[in-house]
Amino acid sequence: MRKVVKFGGSSLADAGQFKKVGDIIRADESRVYVVPSAPGKRYPTDTKVTDLLIQLYKKAAAGEDLTDALAVIHARYDEIITGLGLDFSLDDEFAEIERVMKEEPTLDYAASRGEYLNGRIMAAYLGYEFIDPYDVIFFNEEGTLNSYKTNKVLTAKLEQTERAVIPGFYGQGKDGKVKTFSRGGSDVTGSIVAAAAKVDIYENWTDVSGFLVADPRIVKDPVSIHTITYRELRELSYMGASVLHEDAIFPVRSKGIPINIRNTNKPEVEGTWIVESTARKQNYTVTGIAGRKGFCSVLITKAMMNSEIGFGRKVLQAFEESNISFEHMPSGIDTMNIVVHESEFIDKEQQVVSTIHRLSSPDAIEIESGLALIAVVGRGMKSVQGTAARIFSALAHARVNIRMIDQGSSELNIIIGVANEDFETAIRAIYAIFVETQL
Ligand code: ASP
Repeated sequence: MRKVVKFGGSSLADAGQFKKVGDIIRADESRVYVVPSAPGKRYPTDTKVTDLLIQLYKKAAAGEDLTDALAVIHARYDEIITGLGLDFSLDDEFAEIERVMKEEPTLDYAASRGEYLNGRIMAAYLGYEFIDPYDVIFFNEEGTLNSYKTNKVLTAKLEQTERAVIPGFYGQGKDGKVKTFSRGGSDVTGSIVAAAAKVDIYENWTDVSGFLVADPRIVKDPVSIHTITYRELRELSYMGASVLHEDAIFPVRSKGIPINIRNTNKPEVEGTWIVESTARKQNYTVTGIAGRKGFCSVLITKAMMNSEIGFGRKVLQAFEESNISFEHMPSGIDTMNIVVHESEFIDKEQQVVSTIHRLSSPDAIEIESGLALIAVVGRGMKSVQGTAARIFSALAHARVNIRMIDQGSSELNIIIGVANEDFETAIRAIYAIFVETQL
């Protein structure tokens, strides 16, 4: 058994956190490839090293003096080195960073140094080999991952390296310069390394005990999900739940490698397994509940709409012509409801309305704003009766008016539209009916 272990910034924020990470790695021989992020926040008002580096870049680009900004970052790392009792110095690395920032600064180079330096310390601390992602992860001209070249080079390198630290977040651009993924991209590196090394498990260590059934800012101490499929995760992430970078799924998914989300501060907890498919029943009928505010619904009415072939296409064409993507489309016999993001729609609403009139001559168009959508997701819902009824009665008891319902035919999720101001109440009510009553 071999594993890739990725640690997020809060897991590596200071020497104390580094020690926890060291203990986790040493506790399991199979944790052979380590992907660190840059040091994150040590306390809520602290600044992540990546953000300090971005500020450093801005100063460099403006031709300002860099001495103080560099010293602050250097001190963050020295504190970790001293705390770990390592006989190790990053002086040469900082001299090189200073040189590049003065001579040819780029944002990606600056931002990537957080992971690079943390990787150097981690390799020294563990006695693992250091692999610079600059030499093994490659981007295409358009800035997307060059998976063919990356896989070839990285696989060959890992075949010769039994244990290694590979910093997250960056690689080499087509122009030969350092290039980063988007923010939170160390998750992606972990997934790429796991796929290239064909390991058995990709462990992603963070500061929560896995993927939670509901947003902890809305529901107090929500339970965590034991096993979630990639499809369920996609539904929930799309609706605002976030633990993992979106692009981290594909590399491991295509190789059938499960992801295990773990908590560095509670290593005894099993966390969440993200898998392709599973026979495992969830503890509750629903896997997760997530949602977002800020939608609007465009209600189009036309007598005898049901028998007018091509009507739906014409309506959707109006949205397409204004370059607006729609989220949901529940429909009735003589009505069609198109749900869109308010922020995308608002500036173009009159243009869309007049185009719908021109293309499809409806009887009426009504726009309603202030809609929040809630997705109740669960692979088990299709085999359990009364799930929708339970959701609706929970909402009725909580005095929440349901303004829209959309259930995909796969029955993986039920989407409910409520007023923005009912959003939190609705999520709490749905959580309570499925989790707190243990049904
Ligand atoms: N350090 C980078 C960021 O803050 C990447 C990461 O942590 O995954 O976005």
